[in-house]
Amino acid sequence: MTTWLVTGGAGFIGGNFVLEAVAKGIRIINLDALTYAGNLKTLDSLEGNPDHLFVHGDIGDRGLVASLLAEHRPDAVLNFAAESHVDRSIDGPGAFIQTNVVGTLGLLEAVRDYWKTLPADKADAFRLLHVSTDEVYGTLGETGRFTETTPYAPNSPYSASKAASDHLVRAFHHTYGLPVLTTNCSNNYGPYHFPEKLIPLIIAKALAGESLPVYGDGKQVRDWLFVADHCEAIRTVLAKGRVGQTYNVGGNSEKQNIEVVQAICALLDARRPRADGRSRTEQITYVTDRPGHDRRYAIDASKLKDELGWEPKHSFEQGIGFTVDWYLDNQQWVNGVLDGSYRLQRIGTDA
Ligand code: NAD
Repeated sequence: MTTWLVTGGAGFIGGNFVLEAVAKGIRIINLDALTYAGNLKTLDSLEGNPDHLFVHGDIGDRGLVASLLAEHRPDAVLNFAAESHVDRSIDGPGAFIQTNVVGTLGLLEAVRDYWKTLPADKADAFRLLHVSTDEVYGTLGETGRFTETTPYAPNSPYSASKAASDHLVRAFHHTYGLPVLTTNCSNNYGPYHFPEKLIPLIIAKALAGESLPVYGDGKQVRDWLFVADHCEAIRTVLAKGRVGQTYNVGGNSEKQNIEVVQAICALLDARRPRADGRSRTEQITYVTDRPGHDRRYAIDASKLKDELGWEPKHSFEQGIGFTVDWYLDNQQWVNGVLDGSYRLQRIGTDA
């Protein structure tokens, strides 16, 4: 049976990935520190499943990671664990350096030491896949798209910490021969997304009748990737990617933030009309922009398509419809993850 060590598997993308992988017959060792962003409720359906072992711990705890590797002998390690929210990195960059840089280094050292002990056939087949972001490339003007050769130019403490982790992963391949793969993806959306991020935040606030905060003029452009498409891309890169390579993953769905908010309002108006019958677009409020807000990200994912045959299966319209329905059907999950420390308030203003 194939075994993967997944880090950050109680978070948004890692959680979706773990649920799908276990359903596909993979045994998962799930290492997660359960920060505010980690939610075991996402994994409720795996309770009692012998193919899923949850371990509460830090990726930077080299001794813990080494013992998990020695005991479970995984065929691959997939690193999703990170501090992931740009606004939080503005308020407190230190945690981002600690997990995304120092933590990733600890993980890499433990994985390298384990990999060196493997018999030749298992060492050849072993992979470490590091999940990263398109934000490492900086910001774009009206035209152009990020390719795998775009120079790194991270603008936020979050993207700078992810860029550093990508460089460490690359260095462990070049220096020690560790068989690594890196994926740089655009903005994910879908089920189990912590409600501080744009799409689940807007759904929650729209349903609560609150104002819908749109940063600046709302014309910042992001490419939106449905999380199930992303998980499939990661499995594809893991299975077929060339060792030492990086692959961009995108959704072919560039949207202005204001267009995303308007789409959510239209879907909610149709599915759950407001008592007064008016549109939720009336709740939209423009607020001060995020400091240093990148204007546009766009991904060229043709390497992944041409080399490995992966393309996103969901259009934005399909994915956002599914996502809105999921949040309407899973209000209990949303309420359960909103503990006392985060209640949809604005952060990251540098005020
Ligand atoms: P998330 O914040 O929802 O989840 C991160 C998970 O990592 C949480 O469960 C948290 O508890 C865990 N974690 C944090 N620090 C840890 C540590 N030191 N040790 C072990 N576990 C720790 O993030 P996400 O949105 O699921 O993102 C997953 C990965 O994908 C991240 O590396 C992120 O940088 C990258 N990424 C995300 C997006 C996106 O749109 N969400 C886009 C591009 C790249």
